[in-house]
Amino acid sequence: MFRVGLSGALIADQDKHWEGSNRHYVNDAYVSAVHRAGAVPLIIPVTDGREVISSILDICGGVILTGGDDISPLLFGEEPVKGLGKQSPQRDAFELLLFRMALERSYPVFGVCRGLQLINVALGGTLYQDIGDLPEFTIQHLQKASRQAVTHHIDIVPDTYLYEVLGDKALVNSWHHQAIKKLAGSLRVTARSRDGVIEAVEADGCDMPPIIGVQWHPEELAATVPGMAKLFKTFVGLCNR
Ligand code: MN
Repeated sequence: MFRVGLSGALIADQDKHWEGSNRHYVNDAYVSAVHRAGAVPLIIPVTDGREVISSILDICGGVILTGGDDISPLLFGEEPVKGLGKQSPQRDAFELLLFRMALERSYPVFGVCRGLQLINVALGGTLYQDIGDLPEFTIQHLQKASRQAVTHHIDIVPDTYLYEVLGDKALVNSWHHQAIKKLAGSLRVTARSRDGVIEAVEADGCDMPPIIGVQWHPEELAATVPGMAKLFKTFVGLCNR
C-alpha cells in the first residue's frame, strides 16, 4: 500500500509525571479516514529539519495538512486582533516548509480547516482572524453541535474535484472562527457557505499539482457520510501515481 503524509501537531502533556513534555500527534479521525480510503497514514512530526521532511516525502504520494490552532497573522502582515485564538509558531513554520517542499515535488496536497488557511497564506493570501466579530457573516461557523453533526450548507462550483465528489451542494460541519479574506492568486474558490464564507478552494492553473482545501472537517464525517469518505478516496487516488 502507498502512503499519505499527515502533518503532525504538538501538544503539552497534562500527566503530572510528564507535565510540559511535548507530544507529536494527529487526531485519530484523519488516520482512520486515510486508512479507510485505501492508503497508509504516515504522521509527519513537527520539525524544522528539511532532511526529515524530505526523507518522509520520499516514501509518500501526497500530503494532508491537518486542522488545528490559528495561524499567526504576522505571516500575512497583520497585527493580532482581540479575537485571535491560540497559535503555534513552531507548527506554522513546519507546515509552511512542508507545503513548499510538497509543491517542489508536485505532490497533491489536501488542506483541512487550518490546512486550507495555511495553503492560502503560503501562496500569498490573507485570513479573517475572527469572523465571529464580523456582522456580514451570519451563519454559526463555530458550531455548538458535535463535530460529527452537519450544520450548514455549502454551494459548490462546477468543474472542480469537489463538484465531482459532492455535486452542487452539501451539508458540512463547521469548526472554525477564521476564514480566507484575500484569496491567493493561484487558487480558485470551489465552494461557499450561504453567508459568503469561502468553504473550499482548489489550485487554479495547469502549472500546479492538485491542491484541495476545505474549511470544514471531512475526517470527522468520513465514517458516517459517504460523500466525505469519497472525498478522502478521491484525494488518496490522486496520491497513488
Ligand atoms: Mn463553516
